[in-house]
Amino acid sequence: MKTADLYNELAQRHGHYCPMSTLGLRIGLEVVRLLADETAGWQFCYRARTCAADGISLALEQSTLSSELRIEQQGQHLLLCNASDGRELSLGLSEEALQLAAQYRELDDVEKPQHLERLRTVASEKLIDFAGNAC
Ligand SMILES: [Zn+2]
Repeated sequence: MKTADLYNELAQRHGHYCPMSTLGLRIGLEVVRLLADETAGWQFCYRARTCAADGISLALEQSTLSSELRIEQQGQHLLLCNASDGRELSLGLSEEALQLAAQYRELDDVEKPQHLERLRTVASEKLIDFAGNAC
């Protein structure tokens, strides 16, 4: 599925367009890209119960990775990825990403779609903090 179509699919499935589901899809697409050539089994856990989980799940479903996403209510905007061979990878939403998501609420109906477009296209490095020994 093309990326633009994925965001439409996400909105349909999730019930609305919102910054956290958008950021979840960004994290999910990033992890799918990072683990594209992996043959080990990976498990995924997102450590907050937010709209982001739907975006991550959608991205995982588009891949050959496990689409099972465990949710832990830890209040951390962090996707933990664990390989069957012990390697780990974590992708967290950056401070900047969380600020962009918070700003969304203050915007009017003209600005909101533009803001979401920015969240869809801004460089991953600005949105996601990476850690781990996998890649
Ligand atoms: Zn939402």
